[in-house]
Amino acid sequence: KKATPVKNQYNISSDSLFAPFEFQDSSKKYVGIDVDLMNAISQDQGFNVKMNFVGFQTAVDQTLANQADGMIAGMSITDERKKVFDFSEPYFTANSTIAVKEGNDKVKSYEDLKGLTVGVKNGTASQDFLEKNKDKYGYKIKVFDTADTMYESLNTSSIDAFMDDEPVVKYAIKQGRKFSTPIKPEKIGEYGFAVKKGTNPELIEMFNNGLSELKSNGQYDKILDKYVGDNQ
Ligand code: GLN
Repeated sequence: KKATPVKNQYNISSDSLFAPFEFQDSSKKYVGIDVDLMNAISQDQGFNVKMNFVGFQTAVDQTLANQADGMIAGMSITDERKKVFDFSEPYFTANSTIAVKEGNDKVKSYEDLKGLTVGVKNGTASQDFLEKNKDKYGYKIKVFDTADTMYESLNTSSIDAFMDDEPVVKYAIKQGRKFSTPIKPEKIGEYGFAVKKGTNPELIEMFNNGLSELKSNGQYDKILDKYVGDNQ
């Protein structure tokens, strides 16, 4: 079963910094699980992609405004988003978690966040979770456009904690960030590739076909291993 491209090139928006899914390597080239998956799928299915790393909320905005044909940005498939996006089959599962500075032994539960400031990236499922539970736990929310400014704010204690996807926090810790994750993570949905609802149906079909091909030929595992395997 094969879908055919109807555009010469598909413009795909992505986050600007969401390691290990999209980030710049030492030569400033964008790499990561989303980048490699998108490239491998487009090659397998015979269509052309141009990826633009614009930030999560901007990727959402561009896709919904038809300025991008689709987005891949470690985007959780949520019921709310399904109202305005069509999603591919899931390609990754990730929860979201609270992170604090390593050595902070005061925060062990959401209740301990009372009166504190929690950072979060704009437009994310973590932001939804924090907004929903704000009154219950009594923390303040500070919204950031990018992860690096959020991480720096925790380092300099201008925020007390932040909430972000668990594999991203774990990766940051592995890279040397002094964070810890004292609270049990929240389920926020599996990651999917997305198009604006009702648009570019062939793109979703090609993504799904390519993904299942990559899963059966071992390329999917190879890509994941490269970024989140035990040996890196
Ligand atoms: N998975 C989260 C979401 O979909 C975060 C994505 C991101 O920050 N790129 O909201």
